[in-house]
Amino acid sequence: MSKERVHRFVSKDLTLRIAAVNASEVVKHMQSLQNTYPIASVAVGRSMVGALLMASQLKDGQMVGLLFRGNGALQSVYAEASFEGHVRGYTPNPQYQPPNYDNGLSLKEALGNGTLSVARHQPFQKQPFHGTVELVSGEIGQDIAHYLHQSHQIRSLVALGVYLDTNGKVETAGGVLIEVMPGVEESVVELIQKNYDEKKPNISKMLLDGAQPIDLVKPFMEGIEFEELPHDYPIEYYCPCTQERVIRALETLGEEELQDMITKKEDANVTCQICGKPYVVTVAEISSIKDRVHKESMH
Ligand SMILES: [Zn+2]
Repeated sequence: MSKERVHRFVSKDLTLRIAAVNASEVVKHMQSLQNTYPIASVAVGRSMVGALLMASQLKDGQMVGLLFRGNGALQSVYAEASFEGHVRGYTPNPQYQPPNYDNGLSLKEALGNGTLSVARHQPFQKQPFHGTVELVSGEIGQDIAHYLHQSHQIRSLVALGVYLDTNGKVETAGGVLIEVMPGVEESVVELIQKNYDEKKPNISKMLLDGAQPIDLVKPFMEGIEFEELPHDYPIEYYCPCTQERVIRALETLGEEELQDMITKKEDANVTCQICGKPYVVTVAEISSIKDRVHKESMH
């Protein structure tokens, strides 16, 4: 298990809340599970970092899910994280390669035009809160900032980074989220913007040079006093998939395809695409799924 965690900070006057994380290990793990190529590694990696940062500002048992959907070749990117540091990410097109890399790793082109939907799951609440905004940049960080502003009236600065080596392997991943609370002095906001414009902090490069989460925050906060808050949850790649969910997925196949599987007398080997966990569904189980689907179709 990773010893990393999301670090939370607050400005002395309590008008800025800040989260920072080194998520290199969980993003590397996602890449090893899904064999993501550069564009997908950066897209899913940044989304996982963004979800971890946002989730750390929630409460016990709450989660945040980010779904980016676009008309580009990548189609969609999903990431989910809990307050307690569980995180997972996924794209249906992990091996997408652009025709060339002339524009570097441009997610804007790979995702295209589309939307960001954010789900916030609260305990004791069946329907999660959903908010959807148009993608403004497709580069993930700015889109999260746009969502926070549109849906929660929170101004923020979101800096996310994933660093790949020359073979496309994830070396570092991390980010900083600074949220501006009501009652802030405008001069403080201007100072953060000035720090950002002058220093252009490169998160993934700083991590490569050995920076700790607090070091990622410092360049943004120069001239502003802040302190760390306790938040002691180690981050971990975690997928809550179960046999039951696999069976529910099989129910969507339809009677004919299920009958095919029964005729072949072969157990179904199903792998969770998000975590790689293998499941076996026996012919007997497939038979009862088919009966269930059949009964439901008669209603
Ligand atoms: Zn899974």
